[in-house]
Amino acid sequence: MMSPLTEHRVTEIRMVRPGDRYPRTIGRNARLGSHGDGGRVTAVCLATDGGARGWGVALGGADGVEAAARSLTGRAVADLFDPAVGVTDPAALPLDLALHDLAGHLLGRPVYELLGAAGPRPVPCYDAAIYFDDLDPDDAPRGVEAVLANCRDDERAGHRAFKLKIGRGHRWMSPGDGLRRDVEVTRAVRAQHPGARILVDANDGYSPDGLRAYLEAVADCGLYWIEEPFPENRADLSRLRAELARLGSTALVADGEHEPDVPLLLDLAAEGLVDVLLMDVVSFGFTAWRALWPRVRSLGVQISPHAWGQPLKTRYAAHLAAGLGGVPIVEGVPGQTDGVDASGYRLEDGALHLPGTPGFGMPLPVTDASTEPVEGATR
Ligand SMILES: [Mg+2]
Repeated sequence: MMSPLTEHRVTEIRMVRPGDRYPRTIGRNARLGSHGDGGRVTAVCLATDGGARGWGVALGGADGVEAAARSLTGRAVADLFDPAVGVTDPAALPLDLALHDLAGHLLGRPVYELLGAAGPRPVPCYDAAIYFDDLDPDDAPRGVEAVLANCRDDERAGHRAFKLKIGRGHRWMSPGDGLRRDVEVTRAVRAQHPGARILVDANDGYSPDGLRAYLEAVADCGLYWIEEPFPENRADLSRLRAELARLGSTALVADGEHEPDVPLLLDLAAEGLVDVLLMDVVSFGFTAWRALWPRVRSLGVQISPHAWGQPLKTRYAAHLAAGLGGVPIVEGVPGQTDGVDASGYRLEDGALHLPGTPGFGMPLPVTDASTEPVEGATR
C-alpha cells in the first residue's frame, strides 16, 4: 500500500539556530559554573516535494545536519524512516527528531501516537531549574532564600515536584560546609512544600560516604529520587541500596545521564541497582530509545530521558513518555525558544499537557536572520 512516506521525497534540509531563554539566570551545579539564561539551538527543518514540513533539534549539531543535507536530499521519506521504528538509515540519525515530526505531519498524528500512546497524558513533569543560586553572587551570596524563591516562582508556573541540585562540597564549598548547605536547602524546600515530590541530583559530585551522611540527615524528607549521586559502579550502588533500605527510603535511583555506558547501566538495572535510566533525549535520541525500550521494559526498569538545557527537549521527552510509557516523570526545562509556537503545551498542577496536533505540534521556527541555509541542500 502506498503511504505518504513513500510518496514524499525530502527536497530541503535546512539548518536553523534559534535562541532560547530561561525565565531567570540559572546558577551552578556540583560540576559546572553558571548555566546562564539560555543559548542557541541547532535544529533542522525538512520539506518534501509534496509540501509537507517537519523540524526538530538536530543530533550531532551543525556537522550532522550538513552531512545529512549532502547525502540525503532527494530521498523518499520511507527510505529514511519507518513510523514503527524511527530512523532506518544511520546517515539520517541527525534528523531523528525532525523525521518523527515530519512523519507525524504526513500521517496526521501526534508523535506520541506513532510511539504507541502507551503512557499517561498529561505527563508528570518536575522542575529541573533549582540550582545553587544560594551561592550567587560571589560577593554577596543570597543564601537558602534564593533557592526557596525559585521554588515558589516555579510552583506558580505549575510545578509540584522540584529537583534540587546537591553536591556543593564537590567544588564550591568544603565537603563539610557543602553537606550542611545541601541538607539545609533540602529541609527548607520540604518545609515550604510539604506535599511536593523532591528529587536530588549530585551530578556525580558526592563521595559514597558523603552521600550516606546526607541521606541520614534528610531521612525524614521523603526523597522521591536520587540522581547521579557518584560515578555509577556496582559496589557503591549496592551499598547505597542497603543504606536506603536501612533508612526505610523508597527513593528511586536514577543514572545514565553523563557519558552513559549503556550495557553496564542495563546490567546495573537488571541487578536492581538503578531504577530509572536517563540517557539524553536528543543525543541518545528517539530511535535509540525506541530500539532499547523492549529490553528495558522486560527488566522492569523505568526511564526518564535527560532534557536539561533546552525547553524543546522537555517536550520531546514528554512525547516519549506519553508514547512508550514507563516514564514516571519528565525533566522540565523552563523557557521559550525564539520563533517557536509552543502554546499547545501547558504545564498545570505538575503535569505537562501535550497538543493532539500532528508531529510535535509546534509550528516551524520563523525564517529570519537566525536561519543559516546549508549549501547545496535544496534540490
Ligand atoms: Mg542530572
